[in-house]
Amino acid sequence: MADHFQLRLVDSRMLAPTVRHLVFERVDGQPLAFVPGQFLQIHFHYDDGAPTKRSYSVATVGDGSSPVQRIEIAVSYVDGGAATRLLGELPVGGVIDASGPYGRFCLQAGDVHPRYLLLATGTGVTPYRAMLPQIEKLLAQGGREVVLLYGARNETELLYGEEFEDFAQSHPGFTFHGCLSRQPRTVPRASDRSGHVQGVLAELAPCAARDIAYLCGNPNMVDAAFNALKESGLPVPQIRREKYISSR
Ligand SMILES: Cc1cc2nc3c(=O)[nH]c(=O)nc-3n(C[C@H](O)[C@H](O)[C@H](O)COP(=O)(O)OP(=O)(O)OC[C@H]3O[C@@H](n4cnc5c(N)ncnc54)[C@H](O)[C@@H]3O)c2cc1C
Repeated sequence: MADHFQLRLVDSRMLAPTVRHLVFERVDGQPLAFVPGQFLQIHFHYDDGAPTKRSYSVATVGDGSSPVQRIEIAVSYVDGGAATRLLGELPVGGVIDASGPYGRFCLQAGDVHPRYLLLATGTGVTPYRAMLPQIEKLLAQGGREVVLLYGARNETELLYGEEFEDFAQSHPGFTFHGCLSRQPRTVPRASDRSGHVQGVLAELAPCAARDIAYLCGNPNMVDAAFNALKESGLPVPQIRREKYISSR
């Protein structure tokens, strides 16, 4: 059930030139119970005093089941954005109002599909970072495969890219493809792909008997990939979506 609480910024770093990783703790000292894939809402006021809110996926890598003390989010810079200004300028020690967790963009215990196709652009990769401990457990059961297609314009925008690469190295059932649409890496890797994630999808030959798909991030990518997966024969319940649209 959603709870209202205050968050204090305890740490931050730039993940990419226009993306800030923020680490919060609840002011009341309580841990946050969330299911990986869920998001929080940040509540604030416009300059004219009108209340508003924005959603941010929890990026914290916990153990996949226990509440977490550190609440991490990644915030992408949006030109002229109200929450961008608040979260981009928030100093360590700064306090904001929040509520959550919300959402059902989560791995589900009842899923029996042998292959998970995870697609993301930009900060849309954060739910998958939070899911890594669950993915590890899923792979340990055997007979499962997880493929993450992550779209970015260039290598500097592959958020948490090295974490996903390392996870792929240590978990043979997990494949990570950085899909670079504008500029290849300075030192290309065998797992790299060029173009948009929805284009790279065809290489994986999605099929209803094997796959369940998760799509997160830019609404245009989510729509294009959804259509491509439907054309491949995936029924809609096997395609889960989270569109990062402004919730004003
Ligand atoms: C479920 C959910 C989870 C989300 N998780 C994240 C997350 O983890 N990280 C994250 O950074 N964002 C996330 N978002 C998006 C986030 O909630 C805000 O919409 C985003 O940060 C912009 O808010 P803002 O107040 O800065 O801009 P606004 O003041 O809302 O918008 C300013 C202007 O920019 C336009 N605009 C808004 N968003 C974009 C965009 N993405 N690209 C281009 N133009 C835009 C608006 O139409 C408007 O003209 C999520 C959204 C949803 C619905």
